[in-house]
Amino acid sequence: MFKRLYYIIAQRLYVLNRKTKPSQGKVYMFHKVADDGDVYAIRKENFVKVIDQLFKNRNIVDIETLLREKDPRNVVISFDDVYESVYFNAYPLLKEKDVPYYLFICDEFLNKDGYLSSKMVLEMLKDSKAIIGSHLDRHVMARFIERTDLEKGLSSSKKKLEEEFGVKVDCFAFPFGSMYACSKEDIEMAKGYYDHIFMTYDLPYHEDYGNIIPRMNMNDSVFEGKIK
Ligand SMILES: [Zn+2]
Repeated sequence: MFKRLYYIIAQRLYVLNRKTKPSQGKVYMFHKVADDGDVYAIRKENFVKVIDQLFKNRNIVDIETLLREKDPRNVVISFDDVYESVYFNAYPLLKEKDVPYYLFICDEFLNKDGYLSSKMVLEMLKDSKAIIGSHLDRHVMARFIERTDLEKGLSSSKKKLEEEFGVKVDCFAFPFGSMYACSKEDIEMAKGYYDHIFMTYDLPYHEDYGNIIPRMNMNDSVFEGKIK
């Protein structure tokens, strides 16, 4: 309990401290795109508004472009877990706009009820600019599992996704992705397998973070009709 509070305060201080750094682009994190009132969901109508505004006013790019250009107008779109609602409610629009987006797939959810199937992922890869990333083999907090289990998960997830979908997987998003959920050592270990490590620190990107990518959550309660 106190440990958790400590990390929440540490993360808040970290975020406040880093807010002084100018934005060099933003990475948005979505979960469900559905009208089911889930706390992690964004309604389809709001998702369409977000993408329309980003498409008009910003550049929706891949992570390499964001890191290279350091342009505050650049944004990256990412989905965690990944729910089947992304296939039904987000994919058609992203395909129509022809913009890149990241699917951080957690192996234990793939082909499960309510989540993406392998068939859906293959179609998204073929017909749109989907990019596959790993969200670990299990949806757990890295800090609280054995080191050897984390190492196994990092390596097996990359291998499984690369074999199943025939693509290179060099991006990784920690489940939960906070300072509480992942230690510095966890992040170092992940860097041994992946080029870019995506977190849930609520910050714009700055080059000082290197290949540790903070992400800003996007759901109905965050979205107020305009992109900050
Ligand atoms: Zn997740």
